[in-house]
Amino acid sequence: MTRIVARRLKQLRTQLRRQKLDSILISDESNVRYLSGFTGDSSALLLTQSDALFLTDFRYVEQAADECKSYRIVQRRDSMVKAIVRQARKLDVTSLGVEAGVLTLESAERLRDALGSSSRRGRRKIEMVSTTGLVERLRAVKDREETRAIVACLGAAEKCIEHVKPFLVPGIREHDIATEMEYFVRGLGFDGMAFPTIVAFGPRGSLPHARVTGQRMKAGDAILIDWGVAGCGYVCDLTRVFFHHKIPSKFERIYRVVLEAQRRAIRKTRPGVTAREIDAAARRHITRAGFGRKFGHSLGHGIGMQVHEAPTVGPKSDAVLKRGMVFTVEPGIYIPGFGGVRIEDDVLVTTKGVKVLSSVPKTLKDIVL
Ligand code: ZN
Ligand code: ZN
Repeated sequence: MTRIVARRLKQLRTQLRRQKLDSILISDESNVRYLSGFTGDSSALLLTQSDALFLTDFRYVEQAADECKSYRIVQRRDSMVKAIVRQARKLDVTSLGVEAGVLTLESAERLRDALGSSSRRGRRKIEMVSTTGLVERLRAVKDREETRAIVACLGAAEKCIEHVKPFLVPGIREHDIATEMEYFVRGLGFDGMAFPTIVAFGPRGSLPHARVTGQRMKAGDAILIDWGVAGCGYVCDLTRVFFHHKIPSKFERIYRVVLEAQRRAIRKTRPGVTAREIDAAARRHITRAGFGRKFGHSLGHGIGMQVHEAPTVGPKSDAVLKRGMVFTVEPGIYIPGFGGVRIEDDVLVTTKGVKVLSSVPKTLKDIVL
């Protein structure tokens, strides 16, 4: 981990120089973990070109010393804001970058006041500078260890869906399925589900973010399951639709359109292409089939330490794909009162093209139970 952390810190420091920042405060939990290897919470990093401080409280000092070898561990005895300001002064910085998307307005105001109130003792004020997505942009490109962790989650997710298929019989409730999946995944030694599993029977499949309910499955219902596994600090995210006994003809038509849209998007994925073009490849196909207005969300999103991270893969996303990016490709068609179809897989951008990391079967034959 020390070698990986050193590489990531080097990349971040290059970004700091580009932005003409003396130092940066990292407080987002995933970013802290990414840059230090720390698996706890309530901690922050203070980084300059030459220093790496890990600010935490009594509860985590031992763990931090063990996990974060590249850092000097500082145990704070009063508020985090006071500890940050004291250490920033000791490091003699003039500007401190903060993660604008992470700090609450209250803590940002308190920090700005404390950084700016130093002049009465003749010290220089420290300017607080908002930054956006500095670490998130680094995180968008995965290294081999990260991809391996995502693939491990996918392995568990695939076992999980195979395990639960025999439970999908009329009379079972949506939350019975979600509970069984979570229980199974924990039994495999993973942390649990990456997000609350979506299990939607029949017409409820038209709600892209349906919550599980006590709804019972009826014969002939479509079954939409969107699930992901978390482990080793990483996640995966998949969706499949199944049918009990046979697939109604309208659903079959919709399913074919969504599957082909996904295939087109994946085929177009390679380094140098914009995320918008990938989205367009799927969207064009769905629109031509007459369902354009029934596909109201983005095609996909980056995954890694979090379920939604950079890059966004949507109609307005100008992110240029790079080798090592991992994201979902999940076109869908949703018809209120009838139901919905979404097919979601996780892909890795490779040197020459793309590798689909997930392998849950999805032909028409595979989805009829
Ligand atoms: Zn999903
Ligand atoms: Zn997703």
